[in-house]
Amino acid sequence: MHPIVENIQAIEKQLVGTNVKLIAVSKKKPASDLLLAYEAGFKRFGENYVQELVDKQAILPQDIEWHFIGHLQSNKVKYIAPFVSFIHSVDSFKLLQEINKQAAKYQRIIPCLLQVHIAQEDTKTGLSEEELFAICQGDELAQLAHVSVRGLMGMSTFTEDETIIREEFRRLKSLFDTASTFSLPANCVMQEISMGMSGDWPIAVNEGSTFIRVGSAIFGERI
Ligand SMILES: *Cc1c(COP(=O)(O)O)cnc(C)c1O
Repeated sequence: MHPIVENIQAIEKQLVGTNVKLIAVSKKKPASDLLLAYEAGFKRFGENYVQELVDKQAILPQDIEWHFIGHLQSNKVKYIAPFVSFIHSVDSFKLLQEINKQAAKYQRIIPCLLQVHIAQEDTKTGLSEEELFAICQGDELAQLAHVSVRGLMGMSTFTEDETIIREEFRRLKSLFDTASTFSLPANCVMQEISMGMSGDWPIAVNEGSTFIRVGSAIFGERI
């Protein structure tokens, strides 16, 4: 068996009995690597770059579930709106409005996650707690009929210190729990938490993740 398939199966085995879904993060990896996983029955992939995602989507099987997880510029939403299954990285209300506008053109409703800034590094994007709560509790979200907010996404600090990582994941879960108590509009449900990558996904699962985004532990190091 190919190592890529072995790696996916080993992670999925550890997820049996949980409701955590694995996303294989294939950025910077050739389409042939994705096809290997696909032919072994795996269909959920995560990509970070719009052009790369569009190119891969065009040549790979049409029943792949594509998750966009990278920073998304408003002017590029139109390229992925026809087919993307999930956008994890919504970091402004303006972006949500643009996703709504583009999804409407294809009569689609695009599931989205609100990305929250939980790490210590400023380089990582995401909403502050105040911004998150303002979007969830504002009147404007209800008017976006072509987006379905399904929960939150976060990235922990890049550190070896497990205590810091665990605290950050707990904070995201706690924001999720708080947002769940709000009277949310019909197009917003707190259902999914996207947290955990190659180095920290077991901690994330422990702290309540429902989507883990694993790249290098499946496909090998990126260059
Ligand atoms: C690259 C990336 C991942 C996967 O990272 P690995 O450490 O290779 O598992 C997950 N989430 C996001 C947002 C990424 O950019």
